[in-house]
Amino acid sequence: MRSDLDIAQAAHKRPILDLAPEQAGIPNEALEPYGRFKAKLSLEYIRTLDSRPDGKLILVTAISPTPAGEGKTTTTVGLGDALNYIGKRAMICLREPSLGPVFGMKGGAAGGGMAQVVPMEDINLHFTGDFNAIALANNLLAALIDNHIHHGNKLGFDVRRISWRRVVDLNDRALRQIVVGLGGTANGFPREDRFDIVVASEVMAIFCLVKNLKELKERLADIVVGYSLAGKPIRARDLQAQGAMAALLKEALAPNLVQTLENNLALVHGGPFANIAHGCNTVLATSTALKLADYVVTEAGFGADLGAEKFLDIKCRKAGLKPSAVVLVATVRALKYHGGVEVKDVGSENLEALRLGLVNLERHIHNITKNFGLPCVVAINHRTEDTAAEIALLQATAASLGVEVVLAEHWAKGGAGAAELARAVVKLCERPNHFKFLYEDQATLWDKVQTIATKIYAAAGISADAKVRAQFAQLEAEGYGHLPVCIAKTQYSFSSDAKLRGAPSDHLLNIREVRLAAGAGFVVVVCGDIMTMPGLPVVPAANGIDINDAGEITGLS
Ligand code: ADP
Ligand code: MG
Repeated sequence: MRSDLDIAQAAHKRPILDLAPEQAGIPNEALEPYGRFKAKLSLEYIRTLDSRPDGKLILVTAISPTPAGEGKTTTTVGLGDALNYIGKRAMICLREPSLGPVFGMKGGAAGGGMAQVVPMEDINLHFTGDFNAIALANNLLAALIDNHIHHGNKLGFDVRRISWRRVVDLNDRALRQIVVGLGGTANGFPREDRFDIVVASEVMAIFCLVKNLKELKERLADIVVGYSLAGKPIRARDLQAQGAMAALLKEALAPNLVQTLENNLALVHGGPFANIAHGCNTVLATSTALKLADYVVTEAGFGADLGAEKFLDIKCRKAGLKPSAVVLVATVRALKYHGGVEVKDVGSENLEALRLGLVNLERHIHNITKNFGLPCVVAINHRTEDTAAEIALLQATAASLGVEVVLAEHWAKGGAGAAELARAVVKLCERPNHFKFLYEDQATLWDKVQTIATKIYAAAGISADAKVRAQFAQLEAEGYGHLPVCIAKTQYSFSSDAKLRGAPSDHLLNIREVRLAAGAGFVVVVCGDIMTMPGLPVVPAANGIDINDAGEITGLS
C-alpha cells in the first residue's frame, strides 16, 4: 500500500501563483511565495477584503479520540475537496503541524490517504518558519525577564513566581524542569525554569486569536509573566517587550496558502494545543478564507467535548464567527473501542461493541445540536477493514440519533468519495441555525466551569480545594471574571479519567489548578495532568525519517 508520503510526493501540484488567482481571485501581488507551492497571503491584501460577505463556516470535530484514530484532519481535507468536486467554491483551514508529534509518535498532520495538503514534507517539517518565529518571540520575553533581574530587578520580580517559560517545538522531557543562571554572577541569578513545547505557549494562543498586528501587540503586552515580591502581577508591557515580539512575528502572522492533492486551496496557519490552549488554526486564516470562498471547512483538535467547545466558546466568541454546520467524525474502530473492545481487537467485526460504543457519539451529537444549537451530520470515516454489517448497523441508527449519518470514503477515493457528505453539509448550511454559546461572559469563572462540566461532560458537578477556590476568587477580584475558560483535561473521556470510555455520567470534575492567560484572554482550568512538554517514545518516528542525496525525504508518516 502506498504511504501518505508516497501519495503526496506523486501529487500533480500546481504553482501557487497560478492556482490562487484562478481559484479565489487572489492577485499575485497579494502573495509572498515561499518556493513554488507555498505562499503567504499579505496582511495588506487581507485588509482589502473587509467589506466582502462571509461564506459558510463548517467545523469538523470528532467523537472522543481513541488510540484507534478518527481522522479529523483527513476528513477536513476530504470534505473541502468534495465540496469543490460537487461544484462549490470551498477552502480549507488547518493548523500547522508541530514537530513534537512529527518526530514522536503520532506523525504528521497534513491529512492522510487521498485527502492531504501538499507539499506534505514541507508542511510537516517546520513549513514557513512560523513556529520558529513564535518560539523566538516567546524566548525573547524570557531573556528580557532574566536580563531585567540581572541588572537590578527594578520591577521586584519574585524569582520563585515567574510563570513565563522558554519554548522549543520538540518533545524533550529533559527540559521539563531545569535551573538557569548557573555559573556565577556574570550569568544572572539562578532560578528554576522549564521549557514547554511551542504549541503549548501563550504566544501561540495569542497568535491564533488576533485579527491584526495592532491587536497582536496589545495582547502580547497583556501577558502576565510573573509576580513581584509585593504580590503584584508583572506584565510583558512592564518589560517593554511587545514591540520587538510583534516585530519578530510580522511575517509569521500572514496566513500560509497551499493546496490539496486535488489542487484546491488551503490555509494552514497557527497550531495551538487543544489542552492548554484552544486548539484551532488562526482567526486570521479562518476569517480570510470566509471572504475568499463560499464554504470554509476547518478542524478543531481532540473530541467535540474539548475541541468543539473551545472553538465555539473561545474562538467564535472572540472573533465573532458563526458556524453554519458541524461534521462529527467517527470511525467504526473507535466506536468499538468505546464499546469496550481493546485496541488490538478493533479490527475484527463486533456489532455488539459497536452498538454499545454509540453512546459516545450520541452524547457528542446532543451537545452540538442541543447545547450549541448547531446543525450536525455524522461522517463515518471509512476504513478498509470496516465490514458491511457494521456500516449497515451505523446507518440504521441514524433515525434514533436524529441526524444524518454518511459514509465518507475520501481517504481511499479523495473528494469524489465524500461527495455525499458534501451534499449533506450544503443542505445543513441552509437549515435554521440557533447557535448559542454555552455560557455568557458575565457568569463567574466557577459557574462557567460548572456549566461545561454538567452540560457537556454530564458531570454531577465540580470540586476544588481551598487553594484553587481562592485562585478563582482572586481572578474575579483582579477583573478577569469575564474571560472564557479553557479546560485542560484528558481528551479520551468525557470525565477527567482517561479510562472511562463511552459516555460516563455523574462523575465529579476536580479542578487541580487555574492559570491565567491574560494575553490570550482566557483562564486555563486544569483538571488532571496536562502535558506542556511531551517526551519521545522508545522508538521515535524521527528514527525512520531520512533524506536521500537528491534531497527527497522518506519515512515521514
Ligand atoms: P486527527 O486529525 O483526528 O488526529 P488524522 O486525520 O490526522 O486524525 O488521521 C490520523 C492518521 O490516520 C493519519 O495517519 C491518516 O493517514 C490515518 N487515517 C485517517 N483516515 C483513515 C482511513 N479512513 N483509513 C486509514 N487510515 C486513515
Ligand atoms: Mg488533526
